[in-house]
Amino acid sequence: MSLNHIRPWRNIYRRESRKIHVGNVPVGGDAPISVQTMTNTITSDVRATVEQVQRAAEAGADIVRVSVPDEASSKALKEIVRESPVPIVADIHFHYKRGIESAEAGAACLRINPGNIGDEKRVKEVINAARDHNCSIRIGVNAGSLEKHLLEKYGEPCPDAMVESGMDHIRILQDHDFHEFKISVKASDVFMAAAAYQQLADQTDAPIHLGITEAGGLMSGTIKSAIGLGNLLWMGIGDTIRVSLSADPVEEVKVGYEILKTLGLRHRGVNIISCPSCARQGFDVIKTVEALEKRLEHIKTPMSLSIIGCVVNGPGEALMTDVGFTGGGAGSGMVYLAGKASHKMSNDRMIDHIVEEVEKRAEVIEADQTPDAAE
Ligand code: SF4
Repeated sequence: MSLNHIRPWRNIYRRESRKIHVGNVPVGGDAPISVQTMTNTITSDVRATVEQVQRAAEAGADIVRVSVPDEASSKALKEIVRESPVPIVADIHFHYKRGIESAEAGAACLRINPGNIGDEKRVKEVINAARDHNCSIRIGVNAGSLEKHLLEKYGEPCPDAMVESGMDHIRILQDHDFHEFKISVKASDVFMAAAAYQQLADQTDAPIHLGITEAGGLMSGTIKSAIGLGNLLWMGIGDTIRVSLSADPVEEVKVGYEILKTLGLRHRGVNIISCPSCARQGFDVIKTVEALEKRLEHIKTPMSLSIIGCVVNGPGEALMTDVGFTGGGAGSGMVYLAGKASHKMSNDRMIDHIVEEVEKRAEVIEADQTPDAAE
């Protein structure tokens, strides 16, 4: 149950956007903010690509993008789409034929900039292929690849140039009576991306795909994305997100979810609240949290777990979590269930025990959510 009516400082009012579909995943309108990632395998290596798509989906990705740089990739796409548990977006640059082939191969969405694929006839062919195959389009403006005439007009990549580029591409789709599109205006510079997205949000009601491009490695990219995407999401901007990291796509999905979880926009899995630990800790908090993060990866039910070193903050945090453990003296601590002190548990058995308690609690939460559970 949302308690935001008594906690108004938590409310985020999402920008009103049109709803489109990427395969069976709604994007925009009142749809949950979806989490995307992109494979980094050679697309024509079907086995490796499908394996990566499946791992990303298992980690919670709602949509996965696959690069289609050549004909071998668009051929492979058919099998990848067939094996994938989530809709596949085909990433196309310049080659209009790859766009047509990808739509025919079953891609749920084409990431393509219609202004960059050649003359009117080619644009029309790609848009018709998308329409014929129920394929949406993402216009993907990137500060690093703006059109020459815009760079000449503005002197350098800037939010105005990015938004003008995006609106030009939108116009082309609208002129062809094509409206199943979303749009992104990415930059690696957080300020530029945030300014561009804010301007864009004022100029179109198309769903917005958020991303900070080339954000960096796991640590620096996570921080950059959390600041850039976090601020925009907090303003209510963004219908689908991709965190770009020089790391395993599974990490991108995890970071995407953490950002959405932090803002209360989406919930999945166990939200662990833990203290940094200090000399007062009754057990090794850091090692315990590391172990629990791994052991609880399989839980998809949204729930909270507090792991706190001592009674300074333990009982207070446990009041607000589904399961809690607070360190005590003499090698044991207190287990809290649904906010209430329940029983003592020795430190050496507590990890296995907490995993069991979390699993049990997840079952109860799931059962409570079944339609006939209220009676
Ligand atoms: S909760 Fe206790 S153990 Fe954890 S940081 Fe605070 S004082 Fe230290």
